[in-house]
Amino acid sequence: MENKPIDKAYDLVVVGGGITGAGVLRESVRMGLKTLLVEKNDFAYGTSSRSSKLVHGGLRYLKQGKLLLTYESVRQRQRLLDEAPGLVDEIDFLMPIYRERGPGRLPLTAGLVLYDLMAGKLYHSHMDSKEFAEMVPGIDTTGLSGGFRFMDAQTDDARLVLRLISESAEDGGQALNYTSATGIVRNEDGAVTGIDITDVETGESHTVSTPAVINATGAWAETLHPVHESDMHLRPLRGSHLVIPADRLPLTRAVTLIHPDDGRPLFIIPWEGALMLGTTDIDHGNDLNTEVTATAEEAAYMMECLNTYFPEANLTLGDCSASFAGIRPVLTRKENVDPSKESREHVIWADKGLVTVTGGKLTTFRILAADALKATKPWLPADARVDLKSPAFAKVPLPADNPKGLPAPNLRNLYGRYGKHAASIIDRAEARDLECIPGTHTLWAEIPFAAESENVRHLTDLLLRRVRMGMLLKDGGREHLPRIRNLCEPVLNWDGDRWETELQMYNDYVNTALRVP
Ligand SMILES: Cc1cc2nc3c(=O)[nH]c(=O)nc-3n(C[C@H](O)[C@H](O)[C@H](O)COP(=O)(O)OP(=O)(O)OC[C@H]3O[C@@H](n4cnc5c(N)ncnc54)[C@H](O)[C@@H]3O)c2cc1C
Repeated sequence: MENKPIDKAYDLVVVGGGITGAGVLRESVRMGLKTLLVEKNDFAYGTSSRSSKLVHGGLRYLKQGKLLLTYESVRQRQRLLDEAPGLVDEIDFLMPIYRERGPGRLPLTAGLVLYDLMAGKLYHSHMDSKEFAEMVPGIDTTGLSGGFRFMDAQTDDARLVLRLISESAEDGGQALNYTSATGIVRNEDGAVTGIDITDVETGESHTVSTPAVINATGAWAETLHPVHESDMHLRPLRGSHLVIPADRLPLTRAVTLIHPDDGRPLFIIPWEGALMLGTTDIDHGNDLNTEVTATAEEAAYMMECLNTYFPEANLTLGDCSASFAGIRPVLTRKENVDPSKESREHVIWADKGLVTVTGGKLTTFRILAADALKATKPWLPADARVDLKSPAFAKVPLPADNPKGLPAPNLRNLYGRYGKHAASIIDRAEARDLECIPGTHTLWAEIPFAAESENVRHLTDLLLRRVRMGMLLKDGGREHLPRIRNLCEPVLNWDGDRWETELQMYNDYVNTALRVP
């Protein structure tokens, strides 16, 4: 991502560098609009690096009767599986059926048939209890009558954001991290004419001219653009996860677990060499400026569910390597609705050139982007048209051979994460750097590439969002920091003092935001 100087005028400014803002940037650049995106923290710093990383229709939404949301999500999942191999890939889900608890075989069959019909492909199958227990070693077999296998997809949420931003930048878009939108400039009729932006670390400020601003700041949306209807407001709902090293539970497929206390579905999902257990869904309150963390109550709730289904594994919080939490921006009208029953559909409100888009899902980012751009049409050049037919990502074919002997799954991941840059990462790498950082699916060779080319300002950006080892490994993978420093020193212009500060910041972050409660 090249650092171009900030221009005086743009067709469109996008505020927020999560999946929603990145999706809008990608589509607007495809439409030929001169677009600037600003993100006040790092790209994907918000909810978009803290999700369950599923690209899914969501069986739960089907159960709630949200047929359109599920259908759109399933269709987007199918497209992304085609258009982003290695970044969005299929994952098998298994769902146990017990005689005395959880939903029975009949309603699940109906839901899964509908789910497959939406995808246009038969994926699901039923297993008896013996087959199921073989697939899920350690599962509680008391009362187990069988189970289902079905398909969904998973991704690396932060890399999804970064690939959108990086390909937008290559096609002429511009994206700045650590740059906050501090005010909307309007003329005497109230129409948007510009936006004030400030680098949050250097304090350097600019006012750029633009007739249109898309506010894609997720849970922060009302800070920039309050909802006009007095009985509606954003309800921040927190969702937390625990990360468990893969060797503590031998699972190669995701398992859906129905919580014994409240009947909510939780998932234990293999991801990037570890297991993720989640999630919760509770009111967060309105403090959006403090780092979001998982609480002890949430951790206990999730472990209770896991231990109900895997009693013999004897897992405790001491087995977990990290936790992380994010906020769902959900627009609500009513009081006292159960958080899990609040709508996950996206919402848009517009006012004379300022268009806000929030809510929705990672999975449906293209639909959010298209809807936001359509709502912005009155303030965009007349010939600008949304194009949802083009693939979301540039098509970069995998090489026929395995360059430098890189195993096929790693090659596929690398192409998915970095698109056309994957080939040069391999070219430039020494053989020993084409191995994975232990406990992750990240190659050492990804580190210097990301450090040099992906707008990394801090070590936390590099190790939490460009690669994900910070949240996968115990203590953020502290033991690997000397080798990471060696790899990065030639490309990051940091002196010894700067390295000490960055290492301290990284350790502090891991010990607070990612600690296991
Ligand atoms: C626990 C959890 C699990 C989830 N799991 C899934 C899942 O598996 N699949 C799925 O499809 N969806 C999932 N979701 C939903 C999905 O993660 C979110 O819908 C999505 O990430 C929201 O993206 P966003 O870009 O709108 O918001 P964010 O990612 O929060 O981005 C908003 C950005 O705006 C920036 N910002 C705020 N104010 C300013 C300002 N003034 N100037 C500049 N920048 C600003 C913030 O720093 C932030 O980075 C999950 C959500 C949660 C909470």
